[in-house]
Amino acid sequence: MNPRPASPAPADSTPFDDLGVAVSSHEPLAHHTWLGLGGAAAWFCEPVDTDALGRVVKRCTERGIPLRVIGGGSNVLVPDAGFDGMVVRLSAPAFCRIDVARPAIVAGSGAKLVHVVSAAVQAGLSGLEGLVDVPGTVGGALVGNAGSHGGDIGERVAAVTVMEADGSTSVRDRSTLAFEARWSNLDDCLILSCRLELDEEDPAILTKRMQKQWIVGRSTQPSGTRSVAMMFKDPLGTTAETLITQAGAKELRAGDAAIEAQHANYVVAGPQCSSDDVRMLVETVRSRVREKLGVDLTPLIEVW
Ligand SMILES: Cc1cc2nc3c(=O)[nH]c(=O)nc-3n(C[C@H](O)[C@H](O)[C@H](O)COP(=O)(O)OP(=O)(O)OC[C@H]3O[C@@H](n4cnc5c(N)ncnc54)[C@H](O)[C@@H]3O)c2cc1C
Repeated sequence: MNPRPASPAPADSTPFDDLGVAVSSHEPLAHHTWLGLGGAAAWFCEPVDTDALGRVVKRCTERGIPLRVIGGGSNVLVPDAGFDGMVVRLSAPAFCRIDVARPAIVAGSGAKLVHVVSAAVQAGLSGLEGLVDVPGTVGGALVGNAGSHGGDIGERVAAVTVMEADGSTSVRDRSTLAFEARWSNLDDCLILSCRLELDEEDPAILTKRMQKQWIVGRSTQPSGTRSVAMMFKDPLGTTAETLITQAGAKELRAGDAAIEAQHANYVVAGPQCSSDDVRMLVETVRSRVREKLGVDLTPLIEVW
């Protein structure tokens, strides 16, 4: 008798079906990025807690499946071809907690940065109000050491709880962390939460300072649209915006991607814009600044 052939896996099965985690296939990442661009992730999930996340992370490691975390999607450019791996979004309440532990705040990596800043100000804890105009999540802010006129988030980080590739968790304390301008050494792990050391201050004074920062921020970045992204890091001693303007690159376009009229370090995606258009524009602006001014700008936006 011939052995019975093994039944093929159902067409919609995924490598994660036995993990008790809801995983979707072909998730359009354009729904999760600030620019509203990019193709689909092969698999996508929003685990409910650390255990569920750990099972997904471990499975990805065991099977060699590329894994990425998406926060607010304000600093990533997903190619039109999408991402051939698992994308995780830490949007469940378990990852978005904000707890005041005077004079610190403990924040989940999925929490919006602006919510953490507001919570700190309301509690009379200062040190984060300069970050009120930075879009995105705590996780994204820690990876890129987000900063504004009032300083960088890294200055306030006392400890970060992370998940390693085998799904285990650990705490990295200040002595093992490195933060530089728009960079940190937290690029080898999943960030779960952090402890930010703050200073006691009068909430009324802090509220005024935060409002002032918000107004300043509004004047230095485009508002009213989500279809924008910041292109380059500011070099030492000047701004990318100044160099782009001096190089006469403000009028450059690529397909339906253009430079924002008032804020030259931002790309605006038009209705027909593709991810390739944005990538091309960033490269063209970078070449123009290099040719005209001899300065090599470092891209801020991360291409997946
Ligand atoms: C209008 C506008 C204004 C901006 N202004 C500023 C500014 O003033 N200052 C500034 O510094 N930046 C600014 N940015 C850039 C961007 O907002 C910041 O880099 C922000 O911190 C990114 O956070 P995010 O959650 O959107 O990260 P994402 O874009 O989702 O991700 C960025 C990176 O972080 C990783 N990541 C996210 N969460 C986690 C996690 N939990 N664990 C591990 N990795 C993770 C992602 O995989 C990716 O590599 C601006 C962007 C826009 C569009």
